[in-house]
Amino acid sequence: MPPSSLQSARGVRDVLPAERATWELVEGAARRVARAFGYQEIETPIIEPLELVERGVGGDTDVVRKEIYLVHSRAEPDSRLVLRPEATAGVVRAYFQNRLDAGPQPQRLYTLGPMFRHDRPQAGRYRQFHQFDVEAFGSGAAALDAEVIEMAVGWLAELGLTGFVLELNSIGDDACRPAYLELLKAYYRPRKEQLDAECQRRLEVNPLRLLDCKAPRCQPFKAGAPRITDHLCPACGEAFAEVRRLLDAAGVEYRLNPYLVRGLDYYSRTVFEVSHEAVGGAQNSLGGGGRYDGLATALGYPNTPATGFAAGLERVVLALERQRLAPPAPSPAELAVLPDGEGLAVAAARVARIARGSVRVAVDYSGRSLRAKMRAAHRAGYPWVAIMDPAEASREVVQLRHMASGEQREVAWRDLPLALRTPGGPTPSRDASGGVRPAMPTGEARA
Ligand code: AMP
Repeated sequence: MPPSSLQSARGVRDVLPAERATWELVEGAARRVARAFGYQEIETPIIEPLELVERGVGGDTDVVRKEIYLVHSRAEPDSRLVLRPEATAGVVRAYFQNRLDAGPQPQRLYTLGPMFRHDRPQAGRYRQFHQFDVEAFGSGAAALDAEVIEMAVGWLAELGLTGFVLELNSIGDDACRPAYLELLKAYYRPRKEQLDAECQRRLEVNPLRLLDCKAPRCQPFKAGAPRITDHLCPACGEAFAEVRRLLDAAGVEYRLNPYLVRGLDYYSRTVFEVSHEAVGGAQNSLGGGGRYDGLATALGYPNTPATGFAAGLERVVLALERQRLAPPAPSPAELAVLPDGEGLAVAAARVARIARGSVRVAVDYSGRSLRAKMRAAHRAGYPWVAIMDPAEASREVVQLRHMASGEQREVAWRDLPLALRTPGGPTPSRDASGGVRPAMPTGEARA
């Protein structure tokens, strides 16, 4: 093994071919659902200016900022760039910088890609992970909050996931939240000494976060804390009711959770989170989102209402695996071309080129024996092989063999796309162009 300095960085992982099928399913469903709701794909850079990202992750403390990876370039030591920890700030930047704000509103956008956070790695938490991120800009309609929630849930349902839980809350807006936060502080101040150190600190800087603290010693005080939903202004109360009406009408189940919050100042009104027990432990959140009407101004752009969500693909993949919904790893190709003899590379490549008209094809260019090639093809799981010796190559035919049944017959090169096009490959009885040979055990094709 090479030294550990050549191994992957801590907290990152390789997605191997066997797992990629599940990823494709997850990404494909994300794209389908997003498009079905009229969302268009946008791709923004992984590196963004430090200042944009710092403003985007908000003013709580250094805790979040510490998670940001700075990009160091030897050629430009002063460049202040970072690896994005989330997508939203970059998408907001792209929306204004490319004048999408001047186009028809709302702009419905989605993106898929890697995010980077220097957190302590643990099961379900990585330093590079991937998100499906959905943003709708330019409309304050509560209906859009319900729309993005319906999308998030629809995506998971399309994947066949069951047992996930949607939690919903409203955290008010600038009109009603400040007074509520005073009530919350007033409630917690006499209890400050009994809170854990982090919550003692939060009490004055970000009291809303006291509500989603998971520390055991802070739990007993939550039940008596004032609830934001009892203190919403009429406009926020109506927006919250509208979101619930729309979700009810869409048949989307949810739990109201008065302790669900987002710690950042630019969030307002709707917040939601989808979690799943199957992903387990403390990291059981699949995704979350809400309305962030204040973000554009926090980033220095014109005031623009917005709503959206971000979900973690690693965790959705994990949930699918745990629920045995992950597809089996596919074979690398449907057909392997096995030249049997010397000097057949050009002919084999041509056979493959022709057959690629209908199926995925790999060629075994090695110099090993046909028996060894058959064994390798069997192990790789190719459903079909096309065997060809020099005499067959000169007649432009192959022996097409179905690995599972051992049935084998001669097929002309030019007929391969048609012969292989039928779902699951050709069946000997369906194709009159070649005679069916008696089945031979795998590895004994001609040896
Ligand atoms: P957030 O952007 O923090 O609201 O996270 C949204 C979703 O991204 C979470 O619900 C997770 O599914 C996923 N996520 C966030 N951080 C990580 C991480 N470090 N590793 C894996 N997934 C993550």
